[in-house]
Amino acid sequence: MAQASGSVRDIKIFRYDPHLGGSGDFQSYVLEIPDESTTTILDVLLRLLREQDPTLAFRYACRVNMCGSCGLVINGKERLACKTNVSDFPPGRDITLRPLNHFPVIKDLVVDLEPFFRKYEETLSFYEPREEFTEPLQIRPDSKERRDIGREATECIACGCCVSSCTMVHYHEDYAGPAALNRVFTLLADSRDGLFAERLERALASCYHCRTEFNCTEVCPKGISSTRAIKYIQRLALTHFKDKPRPEQPKAVPDTPPVASTDRRTFLRQVGVGLLGAASIMVVGGVAATTAVSPSLVKTSRLWVPVAPLSQIPVGDIATLMMRYDLKNGLYTQEVATPVLVSRTGSQITCFNASCTHLGCIVKWDSQWERFRCACHGGVFDRDGRVLAGPPPRPLDRYRFKVDSDLLLVEVG
Ligand code: SF4
Repeated sequence: MAQASGSVRDIKIFRYDPHLGGSGDFQSYVLEIPDESTTTILDVLLRLLREQDPTLAFRYACRVNMCGSCGLVINGKERLACKTNVSDFPPGRDITLRPLNHFPVIKDLVVDLEPFFRKYEETLSFYEPREEFTEPLQIRPDSKERRDIGREATECIACGCCVSSCTMVHYHEDYAGPAALNRVFTLLADSRDGLFAERLERALASCYHCRTEFNCTEVCPKGISSTRAIKYIQRLALTHFKDKPRPEQPKAVPDTPPVASTDRRTFLRQVGVGLLGAASIMVVGGVAATTAVSPSLVKTSRLWVPVAPLSQIPVGDIATLMMRYDLKNGLYTQEVATPVLVSRTGSQITCFNASCTHLGCIVKWDSQWERFRCACHGGVFDRDGRVLAGPPPRPLDRYRFKVDSDLLLVEVG
């Protein structure tokens, strides 16, 4: 892979001003980018705002994939602007930015997320303990229950990307959507929860709308499979209500909006249709599909990814090289483009993961001071990746690597 170099990109951005009315249109900008591999789409927006157009509106906060504020549709796919590098797109290709689908646009790239959080509220997204305990009640990290909930499912940052990607959200106004249902799943699967029946009741009104498209799973920047969460709720509902008639009206939960009831027969029929989608895919897709919708934690196999010919990597220096690969996760494939920091001294090679061990921000090599630095939170590492300053809790992570016919490969996954 070639070392990063400067470029010029055409950026097309959706503009809408409520004071001017109309339905909005795209505006083009041209931007020189010195290093695409370390420039995020959020950096691009901030530069355009400062250098070319102070009227541009977009939303961001943390810049490190944690707050979920900067979700956009970037070249047709939902992504976080702070997690997407310019180099994720083929050299020279235009970059098109538009607001998330299915949400009212406030201005330019900023959408109103009120419908998103209203649905969270309607589906009882808060934890309610089964009974009062004097000590914190834990789910052990190595327990089956924790594995069934999955590591990723509890890490939703409420960015709205999954909702934007879901066509069923467009067709069913009352559909709670993938993010809210994923949250319901994490609570239904939690044995400490005291609102099991009420939660399930609320989720039923919408969980059968899912047609197992996997769009939400494919775009989630935190690797969450909401499809899997929804299938879990559907299966749970079939078991839970199999022999019991459902009450005419769901039990009211204080301080939350009411929810409409569905008669049992309609519910079972509709849940059946939802599950049929998953079942058909499993028949066609076999093990891969089972992995994608099963409540157990998804395991991804490890890969050897080519980085660059060894002869092109300078000796006595540290090179920042891009590696690109497809990460297969159940039925969907995620395109990954990430920098790797390669230190070569004589015959010794070290491949560092460029994600800071504090919060995962990208670390850069400062050749003047011979240090790795994370600009976001002040983390500093020496040439061997040891922490010299700042909050990182451990040295830089290293990749396993091998050299095959002059080609350097690192192991990921
Ligand atoms: Fe965003 Fe993923 Fe949460 Fe959906 S499930 S809101 S895509 S973090």
